[in-house]
Amino acid sequence: MASFAEAAAMRRAIALSAAGLGTTSPNPPVGCILLGPSGRIVGEGYHERKGEAHAEAQALAAAGPLAAGATAVVTLEPCNHQGRTPPCRQLLIDAGIRRAVVAVIDPTSRGEGGVAELRRAGVDVETGVLAGEAQAVLGDWLAGLRNRRPAITWPYLITGRGVEALPAATGEAQLLRLNADAVLAADGTVREAVPGSHGKGILALEDQPPGTSAAEAAAALYDGGVRRLLLGGGHGAAAPFLDAGLVDRVLAFLPNGNASSRPAAGLPWPLLPPGFVITGTVRTGSFVRVDGQPEALR
Ligand SMILES: [Zn+2]
Repeated sequence: MASFAEAAAMRRAIALSAAGLGTTSPNPPVGCILLGPSGRIVGEGYHERKGEAHAEAQALAAAGPLAAGATAVVTLEPCNHQGRTPPCRQLLIDAGIRRAVVAVIDPTSRGEGGVAELRRAGVDVETGVLAGEAQAVLGDWLAGLRNRRPAITWPYLITGRGVEALPAATGEAQLLRLNADAVLAADGTVREAVPGSHGKGILALEDQPPGTSAAEAAAALYDGGVRRLLLGGGHGAAAPFLDAGLVDRVLAFLPNGNASSRPAAGLPWPLLPPGFVITGTVRTGSFVRVDGQPEALR
């Protein structure tokens, strides 16, 4: 069973991995902590971009010789393939890691991944440690593997005129882009959410021609490397995605400031699309933001 120190380190590894949201796709956001024999952290790292060092390599580089005999705490099963970088399980074995604690098994490894190789090399491996909590960061990447489409979030502004796009210049919209891979605008154009954040030539983003169905657009963006997609536009642009059941999260922004008012008529619905339920609320600078999910996903 994972020790208290290992579980605590896993939570830190999960937090570190979130720094890769919006930059690692199509790779997963992963974090790694190395614990020395006394339980002290001797190195840590996360994966930032495809083609750059994986989380384990970053943590090993930070630890240097202190990695020998250490325990590696990793949010996702160490990889076992020679890609642009050497397989992490070999780096861990070569560094003299004694034990590995893993949250989520990589579904693409089919049991032939790093865990099997680490065990073969005599490393003590424990899996499934805080696997549920690790979903907070890895959840969208894992869902992408299952659904072959990105996780889709639609932020919108509710005004007296209707359900409109959240203005791109707001701090709230900037923050959302920082955590996303791409934005699909109402006219079908596709842009990297933060230009240059994934590195050159990593994402293949193609504008979606008129007549493309929501499912086709989502699949094409997934194939282009997008794992977290923001829908730009108001109700008209989002409706095909809502109708197809492809919206995973909605973020409703209500202007904050009228303690007594009578909303104008003309809204398609008062706050959330039909079938969506509230999962959280927060007051931001100028708005109240209400987060919603399809009831079936809760
Ligand atoms: Zn790796």
